[in-house]
Amino acid sequence: MTATLTDTLQHWINNTSYSADDRTGKVYNPATGEVSRHVALASKATTEHAIAAAADAFPGWRDTSLARRTAIMFNFRQLLAERKGELAAIITAEHGKVLDDALGEVARGLEVVELCCNAPYLLKGEFSQNASTGIDVQSLRQPVGVSAIISPFNFPAMVPLWFFPVAIAAGNTVVLKPSEKDPSAANWLAELFTEAGLPEGVLNVVHGDKEAVDTLLTDPRVNSVSFVGSTPIAQYVYSTGTAHNKRVQAFGGAKNHMLVLPDADLDLAADMAVNAGFGAAGERCMAISVVVALDTIADELVAKIAERAKTLRVGDGTRGCDMGPLITGEHKAKVAGYIDAGVAAGAELVLDGRTGTVDADGEGFFLHPTMFDKVGTDMSIYTEEIFGPVLSVVRVDSFNEGIELINSSPYGNGTAIFTNDGGAARRFEDEIQVGMVGVNVPIPVPVGYHSFGGWKASLFGDQHAYGPEGFKFFTRNKVITKRWLDPSHGGINLGFPQND
Ligand code: NAD
Repeated sequence: MTATLTDTLQHWINNTSYSADDRTGKVYNPATGEVSRHVALASKATTEHAIAAAADAFPGWRDTSLARRTAIMFNFRQLLAERKGELAAIITAEHGKVLDDALGEVARGLEVVELCCNAPYLLKGEFSQNASTGIDVQSLRQPVGVSAIISPFNFPAMVPLWFFPVAIAAGNTVVLKPSEKDPSAANWLAELFTEAGLPEGVLNVVHGDKEAVDTLLTDPRVNSVSFVGSTPIAQYVYSTGTAHNKRVQAFGGAKNHMLVLPDADLDLAADMAVNAGFGAAGERCMAISVVVALDTIADELVAKIAERAKTLRVGDGTRGCDMGPLITGEHKAKVAGYIDAGVAAGAELVLDGRTGTVDADGEGFFLHPTMFDKVGTDMSIYTEEIFGPVLSVVRVDSFNEGIELINSSPYGNGTAIFTNDGGAARRFEDEIQVGMVGVNVPIPVPVGYHSFGGWKASLFGDQHAYGPEGFKFFTRNKVITKRWLDPSHGGINLGFPQND
């Protein structure tokens, strides 16, 4: 399809479409390689307009009762559950992941909305009666104000849903800047929330690139920034946002290892390595990109993974395939470049994903499952985040060497151990320097009522996403110490207040 002016996706500000920008970006259907529409790219002025809308809406939304806010959240939850198929289709059309996987993404986002239906419970403060004679102390959590959310291409619905329902449930107003590569899901969600009864200005969407992001990071009316994307940009967002006095949580890239011990069920471990390595074409921040195998079982495990990966059907995500395309032609070329680099560095190419048959029309951005064995830890395929369907196998001599290898990674998003030895698993849970750990679970994304977040170069800032930590991030603590005066409280005393 050739894009026309009417195919240009616009911003969503004050519960209506807003257009003011001539600058646009291309949105592709990655399965066909064609441009499906364009997206407006916000100028500083447009971004400021969205910030102003959120700032104007904040006092009214902050003062809206918990009962009313919760009723709107329930409506949103209901609409999203009823119409999730529409959203999944939008995700597949612009991201490329297969339809089932897109539905899974929506389901994990829905979990957070369900958590937010319980927000009054999570926002309750604390009270100490008679902390000192006649003095009571109360702590309460109040919204931070205007919250900016900047999200990546790989989960165009789930990642925004990690943040904006929590921010809004806690009484904040939001400016969401989704990825310009697959922007339509964000508008769909904002329109649905409008239908659910959300007042004007509470959830605004601006599309754009660095210009919009820099405006959000520096504008004094923005109080918090939640970012998810690659590590260099996460670091930039964290340093720029905090330098402008904002509360920032910036989630970065990953290189997730799966350690397989000799006592593990190797068939199960091979199934999981294939699912977690090649699902969404490896474009998941919790994808397994490195299998760490004890030498004694490595040959057998590699053979089992290869046998399974060869059976995967690659193609258009609407056709019941197992694996879809990569997000853009440029990204496909970058991932293929890593495969070339792995070969040049001397790793053993077990599966070459640069060629193969595809079930799709046109020139989609496809690669097939790729696997390297005997990967060295100095090779770029090991040290860098590839973000594609490329699995590296690193062989180790011992359990200790496996733990040391994982702990020496600069990243710390997710990891998993496959074993039937409870003692070994317990030691792994304790010693591993990673934020999310799976025991016989390859993609340990926490449920909505826990919190999501990595360690080291996978997260800048300290509060994780959603769950209890999400509510902490989107609220500020206030402590009130109070007494109701009577004549016995009179008298002059310049000493520091003490309790008795
Ligand atoms: P990206 O860093 O390129 O983009 C993320 C966001 O930042 C987008 O909205 C983009 O418009 C914006 N951006 C890009 N360049 C910018 C610049 N120079 N200045 C300001 N803003 C800029 O990431 P991506 O390619 O969209 O997403 C993939 C990355 O996200 C991977 O590294 C993946 O590991 C990571 N990711 C991490 C998590 C996590 O929870 N840790 C979750 C999902 C994705």
